[in-house]
This record gives sequence, C-alpha cells and structure tokens, in this order.
Amino acid sequence: MTGGAAPASVALVPTMGALHEGHLTLMRAARDQCDHVVASIFVNPTQFGEGEDLDAYPRQLAEDSAMLESEGVALLWAPTVEAMYPSGFATSISVAGVSAGFCGADRPGHFDGVATVVCKLFNQVQPDMAFFGEKDWQQLAVIRTMARDLDLTAPHVTSIIGVPTVREADGLAMSSRNRYLSDENRAAAATLPRAMKEAIARIEDGQDVDPTLAALEDELLGAGFESVDYASLADAMSLEQIDTLGNAPARLLVAARIGGTRLIDNMAVG
Ligand code: AMP
Repeated sequence: MTGGAAPASVALVPTMGALHEGHLTLMRAARDQCDHVVASIFVNPTQFGEGEDLDAYPRQLAEDSAMLESEGVALLWAPTVEAMYPSGFATSISVAGVSAGFCGADRPGHFDGVATVVCKLFNQVQPDMAFFGEKDWQQLAVIRTMARDLDLTAPHVTSIIGVPTVREADGLAMSSRNRYLSDENRAAAATLPRAMKEAIARIEDGQDVDPTLAALEDELLGAGFESVDYASLADAMSLEQIDTLGNAPARLLVAARIGGTRLIDNMAVG
C-alpha cells in the first residue's frame, strides 16, 4: 500500500423500520464513528414465528426514509422479501449456546432468522462497523458469536458496537411494538423497568436471587401483565442462567406480555 488518505469507512445499522429515538440514537453513534452510514429496513419474515405479528408489524417506509435523511444517513437499503429470499433459498445460520435460552426458547427459530438475515446484510453492505441496540441483548450476543465464528469480522465488519438502550421518560425501553399498547397498558408497562431496578437493587444488596425474581414476576402480574415469559439473571456474555451474583458481569433479562404485546428489557447487575 502506498500512502494517502484512508478509505472512507462505512457503518451499517440494521432495523425493521417503524423508527423511533432508539433507532436514531444508533444512527448518530454510527455517524460519530464512520464516514458514511447505511441503514437497512427489512421486516424479516424468517425471524417471526407462527402466530406472531409479522403482518401487523408497522411499516412506514416514507416516514422512516425522511427521518434517516435528516439524521445524515447516506443510504437506505430496503430490500423486498423476494430479493432477500428468492425461490430456492435454502440456507440458515444457527448459533448454538447463546441462542438457546430466553427469547430463543420462547420463539423457536427466531435467532436463526436473525443470524441469517444479518449475515446477508453484512455481505451485501460490507460495512466496517455494525451497530446494534443493547435493548436486544441476546440478539447482540448471537450476532457477535456468529461474526466471530464465521470470520465475518475480517476483512469487513471490523467491529460490532452495542449501543445502550434508549428509554421513555418513565423508563420503558423504546420499541416499535410499544405502539400496540392501549393507554392503560402503556401506563402499566412502566412497571417493568421500575420493578427490574428494584430487583437489581435487592440482588446487589445481597438478597437471594430466586425469591427476588419471583417477587418481580408477582409485581408485573399485579400491575396488569398477563404473563411473564422469563425473568432471569444471566452471565452477561455467555447468557448462561445464574442464581448468585459473582464477579463476572451479570444481566437481568425479562420478557413479559401485556395486552397481547410481548415486551423485553434487560439491565446490568452488579
Ligand atoms: P428493530 O427495528 O426492533 O429490529 O431494532 C433495530 C435495532 O435497533 C436493533 O439493533 C435494536 O436492538 C435497536 N433498538 C431497538 N430499540 C432500541 C432502544 N430502545 N434503544 C437502543 N436500541 C434499540
């Protein structure tokens, strides 16, 4: 290589659209670190299970496109389903271990769909960096593992960046699915981050994990959630469930349903 200016760097921010401030924060983080930002919008059918909200998932491409333009995003990549999965498409990426529990257990095949589509997006866009939200902590772990195992981090995607969760004023993690909530359920949903913080304070204070998580579940059910898919403490990296707080970074992960909408959240513990 002779001298001269370094080649321009490209960031990829994959999304399913219906953009909110959480997504826009990812765009800004990407713009801060790279010369050009590519955003993708693709409601990926293979990561939705039977009976899930694929058809109902909000689609607003024109509005999203305008938001991305005002954030200085250079290119919006919004492929069709036919372009991503042409007839005869036969490949699926499955990441063992980190995909197994939590959302992977509740939504069979979900992370295979995520890993496969993100691998395709990496190959299509060939970014230097890719940005994902910590809101989907398990997804981030799946993508990091896939990128490492399949050598996607060389020659492109030199780094995968996790961006902290952006929250509403009452603490609820922003999500495209929050718009499904009635006013009453939206108000009750704020119990989720509040109860999680209380549980974390107790665990950090040395109280037993299992009864603390049982109390968290009860609080959610009492506030109007109809079910709790999981409320678990896990090693932040391996996502193995733990029942005591050790020295390694830990994460509280929760998925719960209210008014038929499944909300997920996670926070650092310790
Ligand atoms: P989605 O459109 O829901 O697939 O999300 C696209 C990307 O935005 C993923 O990397 C998500 O983790 C991230 N994201 C979604 N909600 C938030 C949030 N509240 N804060 C930060 N990142 C988020």
